[in-house]
Amino acid sequence: MTGTITGLSTCDVRFPTSRELDGSDAMNPDPDYSASYVVVDTDTGLAGHGFAFTIGRGNEVQTAAIRALEPFLAGRPLDATLDDLGGVWAELVHDSQLRWLGPEKGVVHMAVAAVVNALWDMRARRDGKPLWKLLADLPPTEIVDLVDFRYLSDALTREEALDILRRAEPGRAQREAQLRRSGYPAYTTSPGWLGYDDAKLRRLCREAVERGFRQIKLKVGGDVADDVRRMRIAREVVGPDVRIAVDANQRWDVGTAIDWIRELAPFDPWWVEEPTSPDDVLGHAAIARAISPVRVATGEHVANRVVFKQLLQADALSYLQIDAARVGGVNENIAILLLAAKFGVPVCPHAGGVGLCELVRHLSMFDFVAVSGSMEDRVIEYVDHLHEHFLDPAVVRDGHYQVPREPGFSARMRPESVAEYRYPDGPVWTDIARERGA
Ligand SMILES: [Mg+2]
Repeated sequence: MTGTITGLSTCDVRFPTSRELDGSDAMNPDPDYSASYVVVDTDTGLAGHGFAFTIGRGNEVQTAAIRALEPFLAGRPLDATLDDLGGVWAELVHDSQLRWLGPEKGVVHMAVAAVVNALWDMRARRDGKPLWKLLADLPPTEIVDLVDFRYLSDALTREEALDILRRAEPGRAQREAQLRRSGYPAYTTSPGWLGYDDAKLRRLCREAVERGFRQIKLKVGGDVADDVRRMRIAREVVGPDVRIAVDANQRWDVGTAIDWIRELAPFDPWWVEEPTSPDDVLGHAAIARAISPVRVATGEHVANRVVFKQLLQADALSYLQIDAARVGGVNENIAILLLAAKFGVPVCPHAGGVGLCELVRHLSMFDFVAVSGSMEDRVIEYVDHLHEHFLDPAVVRDGHYQVPREPGFSARMRPESVAEYRYPDGPVWTDIARERGA
């Protein structure tokens, strides 16, 4: 297909989730789950869809950052661009002026992620494959060409990455068949939002087990007595064999984290997620040593592959939680999957939010087929919210994500949802403004 990329269209889309306390945790009591949505347009009819996930205020800043990337893409030849996404990634991330706004972190890096993911969506559509399958069919040399090894080579070289991928090559077809048959294990966070009362917690824990989940997650970190009570209820309902992870969303200092987890330890928490600042590598390591055998999980707010490298080098985590729309999108997440494989640490992605389940299942499935080759001890987060706004929604059956079959990266939202929830002038928000004014 010859053609040209013509530019970007963006939209600030917000869902008023704070009204039901869905998504409430110790640091984020009233999120309005939002997407800075981007469509990369071409003159061929082919388009690529992507987004950055935010939780409300500031989504307009994120959207403006995505717009700032348009000059890098407008006018580029379509096929040459899609066939060199490693090169495009490096060009966007290492731009000498934009880089000052990060480097490789925050709003500007999330903007790169949104655009890079949109380009991957477009490439997968062009090639008629779901993204996980497109990636899993690439030869190892092409996969390592997608990765920027700058700052990684003390922990992972290109040659080591190639070895990891080549070792996984012989089993690819068999694992793909297994994936298509039984899907990829999920765990659910839906029961455990901090704003839910005990009766709702109890009911949702019971439903989670009935629906086949072998792991649930509770938000913690508001009040230790409340957390002990909620943890006791959850353990009582799910029994001893279902794993219960707890998530503090960065609430604690290092010492507080250690004390708090010791209070919860009698109820056998499987991992504690984001116990402290996502930048505090040594703090995570200290917590991990002190609370063992309870495990540390983190990553949804880790800015880039360099911090993940350090967390792995410092033995600071037992579970690595990639996020599909943070770091620099698909390319950087491939680097992180390779790092995790090198260190033998299972990747259990962060999802939920808006569209994160839709995206990240592709990365775990690619990891299973072509990188780590394992599902052992691995689960993808699942939250049963907002999937109805996507054209290729995540499907979880009997506690397992089903394989996406549509071409693309599943990032495309329903046009009517974008129109309805557009901020501040979509009908949902003009109604809310009227209510508040009345
Ligand atoms: Mg979390």
